[in-house]
Amino acid sequence: TAKMIILCLTIFANVFKTVKPDGVQRKLVGEIIRRFERKGFKLVGMKLLQASEEQLRQHYWDLREKPFYNGLVKYMSSGPIVAMVWQGLDVVKTARKMLGETNPADSLPGTIRGDYCVEVGRNVIHGSDSVQSAQREISLWFKHDELFCWEECSEHWIYA
Ligand code: UDP
Ligand code: MG
Repeated sequence: TAKMIILCLTIFANVFKTVKPDGVQRKLVGEIIRRFERKGFKLVGMKLLQASEEQLRQHYWDLREKPFYNGLVKYMSSGPIVAMVWQGLDVVKTARKMLGETNPADSLPGTIRGDYCVEVGRNVIHGSDSVQSAQREISLWFKHDELFCWEECSEHWIYA
């Protein structure tokens, strides 16, 4: 039924994440990928890219009125980023917990922002905040043939 499809979509979702330019410069890419791999999430898309200001303005469209918007676009276009799509049970919600708070100062040790950065304007990683924004962000940054649906041999050891 339609209800079941919606349930599957919201629970077993994809999330868009990007290691920001400071995360790439600071050699945190491997560490960040490692955390999501070890958690049990599945990598379904990944690329190193230089984002254009136009793409970033679209990506952060909801923040266009904020005083930090222009600085954010500059920061995000200041060097290559690593864009990723991860899949798994409740991945959007769980990934936000793994990232920590927007401000690294409010992020607990053990989270990515809590462990690896100091200021909100250099907080090393982005993660979609809802399933809906994840879908929007994935379609903004990835083409269909850049995403891979692959069978995980460990699936039965991750999901009961
Ligand atoms: N940001 C900033 N100053 C602020 C709030 C946010 O520079 O006062 C930047 C920060 O890099 C943040 C991004 O804008 O990650 C997007 O803001 P959002 O509120 O969506 O936070 P996020 O979803 O990344 O936690
Ligand atoms: Mg956000």
